[in-house]
Amino acid sequence: MHETMIAESIFKQISEEAIKQNAKPVTAKISCGKLNAINEDVLGFAFNAIAKGTICENMKLIVEHKPLQAICKECNNNYVIDFLSIKCPNCQGESMELLPDSPLILEEVELEME
Ligand SMILES: [Zn+2]
Repeated sequence: MHETMIAESIFKQISEEAIKQNAKPVTAKISCGKLNAINEDVLGFAFNAIAKGTICENMKLIVEHKPLQAICKECNNNYVIDFLSIKCPNCQGESMELLPDSPLILEEVELEME
């Protein structure tokens, strides 16, 4: 259960932040790479189950998927991969190296002061 582990980790981070600021979390923005196969519904469900009865109950999770990036071996151009065409937009070269997929990161937490 990939999503459950992620939900637990996010929950821990949000709770710590909320306690530190003495506020109630409302929304949290998470970003992850395109290849990081996260099912948002499963993640939301797992998170709600963990958050029930805590300060994080009823908060909203927003998942942003970061595009996949590559570096062109011809001209060193760093660009976003479009799966319809992997050509470098700068030199039209087709020789490229994929950059590592973005990890899952808790970008920001919106807190509501009580
Ligand atoms: Zn290029």
